[in-house]
Amino acid sequence: TQRTFVLIKPDAVKRGLVGEILGRYEAKGLGIEKLELRQVTGELADQHYAEHVERDFYPPLREFVTSGPSIAMVLSGDQAIEVVRLLNGATDGRAAAPGTIRGDLALSNRENLVHGSDSEESAAREIALWFGAEQS
Ligand code: ATP
Repeated sequence: TQRTFVLIKPDAVKRGLVGEILGRYEAKGLGIEKLELRQVTGELADQHYAEHVERDFYPPLREFVTSGPSIAMVLSGDQAIEVVRLLNGATDGRAAAPGTIRGDLALSNRENLVHGSDSEESAAREIALWFGAEQS
């Protein structure tokens, strides 16, 4: 079994889509290992998106992810990292396939509802960052 970090972003919380999105992960068979409502600070956003902080799209992305509470989670299951990314769909909601979370529910490449770790290394880093190294 594999563990992955998933963030349900502020747009999803504001739109009342937490239950819908969580339901998709649960229905797929993934386990919920950790789940917490978190107000993300600018400092945490900078660490989480360390690879993007210099990009042109980062300042509005930082504004967005700190604009309200998010749901931070650790999900587990067989190939959970890849499975979550398949369920999430392509980054840009306008291009994401119908049937995916973004494809069905998002129309933006910034406000795209969810984040999922993209590799085992990212998952380990992000679980430690969000939930603490001793708990990962
Ligand atoms: P995530 O890491 O959130 O699962 P991803 O791996 O599909 O998404 P990345 O390329 O890592 O996408 O981008 C991280 C986040 O930055 C995206 O989820 C999106 O919110 C934002 N983002 C990426 N590209 C753009 C862009 N061109 N314009 C605006 N926001 C963007």
